[in-house]
Amino acid sequence: MKVGIVGAGMVGSAAGYALALLGTVREVVLVDRDAALALAQAQDIAHAVPFASATQMGAGGYDRLQGADVVILAAGVSQKPGETRLELLGRNAEVFRAIVGEVLRVAPDAILLVATNPVDIMTDVATRLSGLPPTRVIGSGTILDTARFRSLLGAHLGIAPQSVHAYVLGEHGDSEVLAWSAARAGSVPIRAFAAQVGAALTDDVVARIDHGVRTAAYTIIEGKGATWYGIGAGLARIVRAILRDEQAVLSVSILTPEVEGVSDVALSVPRVVGRAGVTAALFPELDRAEHDALRRSAELLKATADALTL
Ligand code: ADP
Repeated sequence: MKVGIVGAGMVGSAAGYALALLGTVREVVLVDRDAALALAQAQDIAHAVPFASATQMGAGGYDRLQGADVVILAAGVSQKPGETRLELLGRNAEVFRAIVGEVLRVAPDAILLVATNPVDIMTDVATRLSGLPPTRVIGSGTILDTARFRSLLGAHLGIAPQSVHAYVLGEHGDSEVLAWSAARAGSVPIRAFAAQVGAALTDDVVARIDHGVRTAAYTIIEGKGATWYGIGAGLARIVRAILRDEQAVLSVSILTPEVEGVSDVALSVPRVVGRAGVTAALFPELDRAEHDALRRSAELLKATADALTL
């Protein structure tokens, strides 16, 4: 199995590193407009491989992506002084226009895995530019927000995060929705379990966890400028679900026909992920406020995507 990564910056290389350590794939190839950077990252990661796996690391031009089963899109440009968010988005859409064409020329059967932020909009862009079925253009979406939600809930309840079933829905960003009413510990509704173990989910606890999930990235950015390890591992998790045909339920973003009355919008809900890409979506039971919040998140994403001229 072969994975290509376009964009060998912090996120792309962290994904390559996570893939190499986990040994999920036979070969990882890094491509970047800065060829020297891609080569250096591949060589650096290759030196970690003997301690972990047998993954072959390579770098080069788009032709090296031939035969890739999954191509991670992690390329992007950063904000210029005075530039609006929408202008930045427009420039990143142009970057994707160049990249997606090149990738599909050499790897027409690859599943595209989008990591560039704002990830939901860039997933929408990549889907439209590629002409691929939306099920084969997957954004990392709220995979990390969901992991964070589970770890904070698990810590509060004294159980492993893997035993907490809870999802963050909607945008990977400020309007995201923590689906509290659908959260379960094992099979028990989270509030009932919390009461049983004497760790009630008071308003204060809920507010603290909500804040912790929502602001996690900001806190990291304050300390080190950007985030990459968490998302790198999240991308490797999605790749594993695809290449091992796991049919794993993961919260990822794809262009979705309808969510809360909003049509054709890319956002996250729990989805079944395997070799064919995304094969099903699960819509957790939500209360009124959560439904409303998810609709607002969908409307916001849709308005932003519509404002972009491709
Ligand atoms: P992040 O933290 O999101 O990874 P970086 O700036 O570290 O951000 O990485 C983005 C990478 O995308 C850079 O290495 C940059 O060279 C690359 N890139 C930007 N535009 C293109 C392009 N058109 N083709 C290939 N790579 C690109």
